[in-house]
Amino acid sequence: MPPTPKVSKTKKDTHDKNTSKDTCARCGACLSFCPVYQSHPIERFSPRGKYFLLRSASIKKRQRLIKETIAACLQCGACSRLCPSGTDVADIIRAERDRVAYFRSFPYSLFDIWEKLGQERGIKAVSFLEKISALLRDFQNAVPLAKAPFLSNLNLYIHSFPGTISRCKVDERAKRAKVLLFCGCMQNHVFPDTAAKIAAILDWELEIPENQVCCGLPAYSQGAMSRARSFAKKNLDIFLNRQADIILTGCASCAYMIKSWPSLFGIQTPTYKHATKIATRVMEFSQFMARYQANTGARKNGSIAIQIPCHQRYGLDSERSLITVAQRFLLPDQPLTTLGCCGLGGTFSLFNPDISKNIFEQNIASKTGCFTLEKTGPVFTTCSGCLLRLRHAFETLAKEEDSAPRAYHLVDLMVHNKENPKG
Ligand code: SF4
Ligand code: SF4
Repeated sequence: MPPTPKVSKTKKDTHDKNTSKDTCARCGACLSFCPVYQSHPIERFSPRGKYFLLRSASIKKRQRLIKETIAACLQCGACSRLCPSGTDVADIIRAERDRVAYFRSFPYSLFDIWEKLGQERGIKAVSFLEKISALLRDFQNAVPLAKAPFLSNLNLYIHSFPGTISRCKVDERAKRAKVLLFCGCMQNHVFPDTAAKIAAILDWELEIPENQVCCGLPAYSQGAMSRARSFAKKNLDIFLNRQADIILTGCASCAYMIKSWPSLFGIQTPTYKHATKIATRVMEFSQFMARYQANTGARKNGSIAIQIPCHQRYGLDSERSLITVAQRFLLPDQPLTTLGCCGLGGTFSLFNPDISKNIFEQNIASKTGCFTLEKTGPVFTTCSGCLLRLRHAFETLAKEEDSAPRAYHLVDLMVHNKENPKG
């Protein structure tokens, strides 16, 4: 009998949400956990402020204000998860973005170009854009894209942890399961080594289905629901045909999106049932390792930090599994530094480069000691978007300061320890 994967709940579906009812208790709890408000304390940018702004009838005509306010959301899900009254402000913002064509269409004009170009030409195009943006440096306030935190020298950020792949044992229950690997577009195009390492490091067979496409998260976050639906459907066709016990993914944000697939379809439709079936089988890499990893390999000699992606913390509610796996590689007396939101949030960082930078400095740079002489050691994460953001920011810091940490996917912690047991 294959193991029964721990059935996690799918993201609560939003079909029954009654948006006309005022659910906000004005308690202000969200002011303490919204990364945007924490970095930019203006009431309108808090979940409470956004909620009341969007409910105000008189504001409907003030499109510029609405655009600016709904762009200032990372879609981190903290408000959806932690609001004591259950007011899902992130969901309200997605609905509003869906209403405004500017948001609905934006990410996919870029995404489509990337898909057409392919990885190699895509990276060349990004490098070219970076040169243009350097020329535009004096006009950065007029051209916000020129300050985008990752649109520069993308090819510099594709590097691997030193070490070679060696097998990492998983327990017998996992070996009896049929496991499919979902890569996601970032691991297809930007970090193909991550999916390859996951496939190579685990001591059992897993299948990587061909023709899988983006999980749909960039579209979903941007409110482009029909686009997100079409991505989900394409993937469902591929994954349902294979009757998997576990859908494993190396990206916490993809795992969160797959769990959200049911909310894209009418509750009575067959597609909703199919999406629910897949959503209950998805496991993010650290969840899988926390549950099924049979040996831990050597312990690491030296400190490390883990960055907990927002979708892991609030969307999957599985921050603990990432901490558990990382602790297996530390000696008992070694502290583990945990870091929070990196400030990327997809297109959030394009629309709000300064706030994004502030969030990075508050949550990552100050804690890794980038601005002091103390260093935390390498930083490991489980989200491809966060990884891109961390690598870019650390490379930039390394040029300005003497040194800065380097960022890797969690799987690299295992590669490194197998190869260099002493650290
Ligand atoms: S959105 Fe939730 S947490 Fe924020 S003020 Fe309203 S009830 Fe409180
Ligand atoms: S999703 Fe995150 S960034 Fe957006 S309003 Fe909620 S807490 Fe703030």
